[in-house]
Amino acid sequence: MLKLDILVLSVHPDDAELGCSGTILKHIALGKKVGIVDLTRGELGTRGSAEIRDQEAAASAKILGLTIRENLSLPDGFFENTREYQLKVIAVIRKYQPSIVITNAYHDRHPDHGRANQLVETAAFLAGLRKIETQGADDVLQEAWRPDLVLHFIQDNYIKPDILIDVTEYWDKKIESIHAFGSQFHNPEWEAEPQTYISSPEFINVVAARAMEFGKSIGVKYAEGFTSRKILGVDNLFSLK
Ligand SMILES: [Zn+2]
Repeated sequence: MLKLDILVLSVHPDDAELGCSGTILKHIALGKKVGIVDLTRGELGTRGSAEIRDQEAAASAKILGLTIRENLSLPDGFFENTREYQLKVIAVIRKYQPSIVITNAYHDRHPDHGRANQLVETAAFLAGLRKIETQGADDVLQEAWRPDLVLHFIQDNYIKPDILIDVTEYWDKKIESIHAFGSQFHNPEWEAEPQTYISSPEFINVVAARAMEFGKSIGVKYAEGFTSRKILGVDNLFSLK
């Protein structure tokens, strides 16, 4: 069985890149196994199509060096935090038994982000209850598994982070992974398609500005911020900066 150290469960292909790809790259460089399971194929996105997003997600997975990238194909825009969808998320958490789950911001401009956060938080808890039965591959009953920690990245809305990770060394690679989604972000080849909030050339500057603002708080150039519903602890004071 393939066990992941970190499993990112975010709703649209490209959310993980925008929210936490620097942290993903940093932990892969530390020898950790990291995977992304996108909850939807982003089929309601104004530009591109689900098929194009699949290809872009695969290209970005290569850039990031992910161990796995899968898609749960929940309905973009219309999934809810219901038993039907909780069971699908529970099954994927049990499949990969991650120590840490990272998901979308708990509130954001796009309502899917906050709903994904609720769905993943609920499923991460329920995945630890052994009386909830789910089947893995070959219809084998899965073992209960609860991750130690669920973190939420910060995307469009400003949210005060509980923790910041220095991602300066991985910034260029993060931008490269974002640009793998050529249909979504500023790209002269896609001029004919309607422009959106995220396809303007300014959007990527805003992503950088946020990371620089977070970085400045801890004396580095770029940082990614996370929140947690549980209080976070560290081994000793020197892990803090
Ligand atoms: Zn999104």
